[in-house]
Amino acid sequence: MSMRRVSIFGATGSIGQNTIDLIRRDAARYDVVALSGGHNVAQLARDARELRAEVAITAYEARLPELRAALAGSDVEAAAGTQALLEAASRPADWIMSAIVGAAGLAPGLRALEQGSTLALANKESLVCAGRLLMQTAKAHGARILPVDSEHSAVFQALVGERISEVERIIITASGGAFRDWPMERLQTATLAEASSHPNWDMGQRITIDSASMFNKALEVIETHEFFRVAPEQIEVLVHPQSLVHALVGFRDGALMSHLGAPDMRHAIGYALHWPDRRHLPVARLDLATVGQLEFRAPDSARYPALRLAQEVMARGGLSGAVFNAAKERALDHFIAGRIGFLDMATITEQVLASLEAQPDLIDAAMTLENVTRIDDLARQAADQAVLKKTG
Ligand code: NDP
Ligand code: MG
Repeated sequence: MSMRRVSIFGATGSIGQNTIDLIRRDAARYDVVALSGGHNVAQLARDARELRAEVAITAYEARLPELRAALAGSDVEAAAGTQALLEAASRPADWIMSAIVGAAGLAPGLRALEQGSTLALANKESLVCAGRLLMQTAKAHGARILPVDSEHSAVFQALVGERISEVERIIITASGGAFRDWPMERLQTATLAEASSHPNWDMGQRITIDSASMFNKALEVIETHEFFRVAPEQIEVLVHPQSLVHALVGFRDGALMSHLGAPDMRHAIGYALHWPDRRHLPVARLDLATVGQLEFRAPDSARYPALRLAQEVMARGGLSGAVFNAAKERALDHFIAGRIGFLDMATITEQVLASLEAQPDLIDAAMTLENVTRIDDLARQAADQAVLKKTG
């Protein structure tokens, strides 16, 4: 069997490390081309040495000397910066994991698709910012995108052998995050530490906080719309505290097909890695008799304004997804820095959306990487201004 050439962007993160775990268990099958990271240069160098990667890239040029030093004496090339990331994404690979966090994952993902590589997409932000551009780029180059977000992998699996035209609705589940059972009055004073712990999933800090605010689910609703091309009104969110049912697909005959599994991202990563085959995965097997009960409830729209904003973004279309994502990312930066409260993230995002949506020349510009990048910058600046105004 021939070796598969694989690259992992965001290798030092939570998804990246889970991907490496699967590859390491079966190392003889893989030729690792590129591994990328950010600040965690030591981890990046360790993994690149162990997996004998061709090249290791840190996103930050200032960290290059450190990466070089950590790779000294090995055959791994060291590189740094945005251009180096793009160069690495251009290297021929059969399978590329897109697991950088945030809009920074868009350009390398596009570049990978332009090479015709299969892109395993954890980076949902790129679909929110530029869904059509991503899907069209894949199509134009005969490349494939496989979803890695657990809900979207679940939908994808429920659709095997089915026709999308026969789908009535797609239901994605949400744990409800850290503050599911908190009284509303307490939310504004929630601390960074409180928002950074997830009841069921072990993930990077940013997506964990986005789970508490449901911004993560808002992104996922848009991701569902962009990836599966279903109408906004066909997408439902269901709070499911156990996080065992990841999604359900409802067909025109009323049948619901669902995907259940332990909350372990190696499920979805492994499915994308081995697709269209299924191989053994080192994930816990569910014992439903022990689980006993599965609970479901409708999300509380007052508690989670992000879900309403997602509806507005899908209705507005154009580049509003890029505005929404960038404003949210920046508001999250400010929350992490302690400058704004938990609920202010939604208020600021809504303000930025309103101000940029009032500028049709920007929001209705063609969906090119250049225009998406420009509006992303403007949305971040607008978010900074809104925070300044608020904090004085
Ligand atoms: P982490 O924060 O754990 O990891 C992010 C990765 O991206 C790290 O390798 C980090 O490097 C790197 N990185 C951070 N900023 C930049 C930048 N500006 N440019 C280039 N690289 C950067 O995130 P997760 O692994 O949790 O999430 C990754 C993606 O997967 C996100 O889009 C998230 O929404 C999605 N996802 C994650 C899930 C999960 O279970 N974690 C589930 C579903 C989707 P370093 O750490 O070295 O600085
Ligand atoms: Mg998810």
